[in-house]
Amino acid sequence: MEGAVIAVFAILGMVVASFLNVCIDRLPNNESLFFPPSHCPSCRHRLAVKDLIPVFSYLWLRGRCRYCRIHIPKRLLWVEIGTGALFAYLYWSYGLSAGLGITAGYGCLFIVLMVIDWERGLILNKIVYPSMIAAILIGIFLPGSISIFLLGNSLVLLPPGIAQAAIGGAIGLGISLLIVLVSRGGMGWGDVKMAALIGLVIGFPLVFFTLIMASIFGGLVAVGLLLLKKKKRKEAIPFGPALSLATIVTLLWGTNILNWYLGLF
Ligand SMILES: [Zn+2]
Repeated sequence: MEGAVIAVFAILGMVVASFLNVCIDRLPNNESLFFPPSHCPSCRHRLAVKDLIPVFSYLWLRGRCRYCRIHIPKRLLWVEIGTGALFAYLYWSYGLSAGLGITAGYGCLFIVLMVIDWERGLILNKIVYPSMIAAILIGIFLPGSISIFLLGNSLVLLPPGIAQAAIGGAIGLGISLLIVLVSRGGMGWGDVKMAALIGLVIGFPLVFFTLIMASIFGGLVAVGLLLLKKKKRKEAIPFGPALSLATIVTLLWGTNILNWYLGLF
């Protein structure tokens, strides 16, 4: 029974991912998310329901448009698989709860931010600002929902609330601002806004782990791309994807990481 519900959440995640892919494609172009209906970007043929079944349509059509046979970006598939896995994992670890809803929502937000910055080098204000307001409202009205963790043998419910979120936001803003001013071009203003958002979402003290993890991810990606010769040394590599990935990892396992860290002393 539990397995069936987990499978339902995986499918729900894949369906939500289809919408995330629409957001990723259309938000940077200031296009409506709902009109026109889904169509092939190449031949403009309107897509039928059978073309829009997450994961399966892509695999069945072998990654090509049914009508003009052009290649569909692999990203559509990866976002669907990733979001499906995320939703299934979240249900498995949270059960039906406010924590599930909030973490799933934040997961979707950072998947969209990650892919848009990866593909276009853009961090959109129209995503970041409303998300900051949402994170503040969650801090006020739903405190404690994502910061339950084990300390020793007892479950500790950190009251993050608005204070923890505000301190986190200030730390995210301060550290990234410092890096921008010192590095002169290593990081952009979009990254600063995103780091502030991450602080509001993750709160103090886990925001520190998120930023450290993001720098490690960013370094690994930069080295990887240089080795694969996908980028030249002088080209800017967006930092938003590393920030987003680190945030998702913190949302999923941050409390475990913190417990492990506290256990070292
Ligand atoms: Zn087509």
